Amino acid sequence: MSSTSYRSTRSSAADSHSFEEVVLKGLASDGGLFIPSKIPKLPANFVEEWKDLSFTDLAFNILRLYIEESEISNDELKSLIERSYSTFRHEDVTPIEKINDDLYLLELFHGPTYAFKDVALQFVGNLFEFFLQRKNANLPEEQKDKLTVVGATSGDTGSAAIYGLRGKKDVSVFILYPTGRISPIQEAQMTSVPDSNVHTLSVKGTFDDCQDIVKKIFSDVEFNKKFHIGAVNSINWARILAQQTYYFYSYFQLLKKQPDAKVRFVVPSGNFGDILAGYYAKEMGLPADKLIIATNENDILDRFLKTGEYAKSADVKATLSPAMDILISSNFERLLWYLVRNQVKDDLKAGEILSQWFEDLKTKGSFKVSDEIIASATKDFDSDRVEDAEIISTITETYQKYNKYVLDPHTAVGVKVSNDNIAKDSEKFTYISLSTAHPAKFADAVNKALSTIEGYSFDDDVLPQELKELSGKQLRIKLIDQADVEVVKSTIEELLK
Ligand SMILES: *Cc1c(COP(=O)(O)O)cnc(C)c1O
Repeated sequence: MSSTSYRSTRSSAADSHSFEEVVLKGLASDGGLFIPSKIPKLPANFVEEWKDLSFTDLAFNILRLYIEESEISNDELKSLIERSYSTFRHEDVTPIEKINDDLYLLELFHGPTYAFKDVALQFVGNLFEFFLQRKNANLPEEQKDKLTVVGATSGDTGSAAIYGLRGKKDVSVFILYPTGRISPIQEAQMTSVPDSNVHTLSVKGTFDDCQDIVKKIFSDVEFNKKFHIGAVNSINWARILAQQTYYFYSYFQLLKKQPDAKVRFVVPSGNFGDILAGYYAKEMGLPADKLIIATNENDILDRFLKTGEYAKSADVKATLSPAMDILISSNFERLLWYLVRNQVKDDLKAGEILSQWFEDLKTKGSFKVSDEIIASATKDFDSDRVEDAEIISTITETYQKYNKYVLDPHTAVGVKVSNDNIAKDSEKFTYISLSTAHPAKFADAVNKALSTIEGYSFDDDVLPQELKELSGKQLRIKLIDQADVEVVKSTIEELLK
């Protein structure tokens, strides 16, 4: 039985929200993020009891600790989880792959869009549908709450949202992308989905134009009231929750191969959602020695751990690992709350401090924390940054040394950091490095690293049959020939009819 309620990271008053509210709202009204102020603890004998469970049974046990039975019954939760992971191609859902005695890759890309975001978004899509259907059950059609999810993508993340929401009742999804600026595979993945609740808008402009339009739509009160605009962005609590399962699952898989392994996780990080799930797992009691943040050249997190200053750079750098190209890591606020609360021992005071810090971030572009906070962060975390040239050399070396294993450029960021740690460790650790995308999704970087190697062929060695077949599919491309919010709004209105 759980007794979890949720609060906002910026609230300095008593604050309590249900799981349903947290999932459907996404962001708290004060601009903070929803968190469980108490992190549940694992049963003492969890290794014995859980180590042989399937991925879905394990997911059930973990999620149950965070969701009241009065909100979602055991049978309903089981069914939501089963449906969410039946779309994965691998029987283990998230298998581990041995690279060498010190390093395993946790492959998170066996879902429908070949990227780790599927693990969370397949579940979130089903949750949205579940909550809306329940709310709407006895209402006449015109009174039903229908959610319109709107988002922008630079190519690599939009498809996971689309595949999470396709075919769901009472939900429509609109994804904007910049015309001609995403790869043909990415465009085909998104626009070949035939479900009538899915709409992709190819906007003549840049990714920033698309994001601006989405922001304007979110702040349009009247439009919101009429169409109940929602988001599935990386701060949604349900995503963090769903991602906790694979930390446990990979730990148990590793124990079967190395029963006395001391484990460290390395996570290619952008918005800090993936690795934050590891923090919850560790706080619950998963015996992981450290969680290591691997950033690309957009390195706000690495700089923070080294200096104590959380400072936004002037510009985001376009790197070979685009899904990690961020200025600030939105989920990091959640970790900061726990670090501060554990120090001041007061939920309300923690909210007050966080609220001030994020005000400073907005107005001055940075804030600084005390040495004690950094000392407590580095008990659980370590970090390093990786440059584009190192991404390329890591893909090349891994292919040559480890039986032609092909890394995607995001995964390569983690592997580089893992290798550097292994080389300097004086004590023996086993690293589980998270593999966040299939290499076929990032052909340019992969080919840059491998195309001069004799015998290598992208089509034969990397591209899965299912993605090859995309090129023959019927695409539905809706062109918006002006990057203008009014044009997009009227298109949404028209398509919803
Ligand atoms: C989103 C993403 C990441 C970064 O994950 P965060 O949760 O934002 O830290 C890394 N790799 C890939 C391929 C991604 O799509």
